[in-house]
Amino acid sequence: MAKAYLEPEEIALVEKAASNLRDRLLIHLLFHLGCRISEALALAVDNIDFDNATVCILHLKTRLKLSCSNCGQRLGRSHTFCPGCGGKIGKAQAEEQQHRRQRVLPADCVT
Ligand SMILES: [Zn+2]
Repeated sequence: MAKAYLEPEEIALVEKAASNLRDRLLIHLLFHLGCRISEALALAVDNIDFDNATVCILHLKTRLKLSCSNCGQRLGRSHTFCPGCGGKIGKAQAEEQQHRRQRVLPADCVT
C-alpha cells in the first residue's frame, strides 16, 4: 500500500536531493510549513520577515456568487426559477467575491 505521507528522514533526503536553493526552499516550505504549492509559488521576498523569522502566506480564494437580477435572491447554479420571486432566471448576476486571508508561519519551524 502506498503511503500518503513521507517520513521526516525521507523529507530530509528529498531536500538534500534538490540541486538548487530555490527547489530546496520550495520543498522546505511544502513539508515543514504545510503550505500548498500555489501558496509557495506565490511567495515573494516581501512575504518573508527576516527579523522575526516568519513567512506570510496569502490565501486568495475566489468564489462566484449568483443572485437574481430581479429580487437579489441568492441562487445556486442549478436554479431555473428564482426561489425568491418565482421568476424564470434569464441571466443571473454573477459577482466575484475574493477572500483574502493571511497566515503567518514561523520560518524556522523544523519538525
Ligand atoms: Zn428573484
